[in-house]
Amino acid sequence: MSRYRLYPTPTQQAALLEQCRHARYLWNMALEQWSMWTPDKRPTPGYVEQARQLTEARAASGWLRAGSQTVQQQALRDFDQAVRNFYAGTHRRPTWRRAGVHEGFRIVGSQASRVVKLNRKWAAVKVPKVGWVRFRLSRAVPDAKSYRITRDRMGRWHLAFAAIPPPIPAPGTGEVVGVDRGVTVSAALSTGELLTCPGLTEREQARLKQLQRRRARCRRGSKRRGRVKAAIAKLYARAGDRRKDWVEQTSTDLARRFDVIRVENLRIGPMTRRPKPKPDPERPGRYLPNRRRAKAGLNRGILANGWGDLVARLEHKAAGRVEKVNPAYTSQTCSVCGHCAPDNRESQAVFRCAACGHRANADVNAAVNIAAGRAVSARRETPARVSPKREPQLAASG
Ligand SMILES: [Zn+2]
Repeated sequence: MSRYRLYPTPTQQAALLEQCRHARYLWNMALEQWSMWTPDKRPTPGYVEQARQLTEARAASGWLRAGSQTVQQQALRDFDQAVRNFYAGTHRRPTWRRAGVHEGFRIVGSQASRVVKLNRKWAAVKVPKVGWVRFRLSRAVPDAKSYRITRDRMGRWHLAFAAIPPPIPAPGTGEVVGVDRGVTVSAALSTGELLTCPGLTEREQARLKQLQRRRARCRRGSKRRGRVKAAIAKLYARAGDRRKDWVEQTSTDLARRFDVIRVENLRIGPMTRRPKPKPDPERPGRYLPNRRRAKAGLNRGILANGWGDLVARLEHKAAGRVEKVNPAYTSQTCSVCGHCAPDNRESQAVFRCAACGHRANADVNAAVNIAAGRAVSARRETPARVSPKREPQLAASG
């Protein structure tokens, strides 16, 4: 993704926001249709049916007709893709788009290639119904078939061309690396390296909490509330920028250094591991702190996104060299002797093999298993995945 900072004039900003509103309206409408579906109904309208409904809606409403049809159709197509991704198990359920948070739309096709260079530092893109909008030429514009315009919570506009970066050639050393999404760090490598995706510092997190409390005390729609919201948005944007930088640097580094990169396949269901409750040996029935609260909150969301983005970028930069491994039991299996048991743990962070006594960082141990492709231990079969929608089965059949 090549991203540029967009500098619309105040009039253009209003026009862009209107397009965002249209895209959001249609996405939410499609989401509503989709989520009202129950098994006794006929299939939910797919993209083709929704596009037909859009034509009718445009004929009936001057508000929609004033906007760009490309933008509106694309919002429906994007939603359709989001539903497919959800059923394929690669993405989570599509969510509602909110004003001020999800501001953006996409332009696809021939309209996406209307870009002119103004001088060495500036270029302009022709946005339907908005006109020529200037953007800063921070790098060469790729040959892309679509772009997306977004406004972040701080009010900054960006233009991103959906161009897949040229793949990075393999080093040719035959080296294989395993990457595990860690519990205590963002990613652990089988080489023993621990990588941390920077979120917010402790100080910034404390400030965020303070601002959120202050926002709760402000009257809705007041000027003070607006200022507090802007300060919160600034922190979120900062964390997002850091995450993006980290993903780009880490994916480039891995693609350059290793021939084969093995990552755990995306887990369906809870996205982050929950730390186990730790019983207090002195007081039965009570529990010791297990840092569960520490995992909740803003940073967790950022790290979860960071992982997904990292894998997606790796698949672009190291095309054909990324292998996805079933993560079942990688955290319980000893990377030295292969012994697999749930009690192969000294603590959340330290792995200790009950059979051979091998002791290592728990995330690194899992990364070594992933590198070996030893996802499923010989001693234990992967349990069959049971759909939560399936009716309960009799235990006797097992
Ligand atoms: Zn062992």
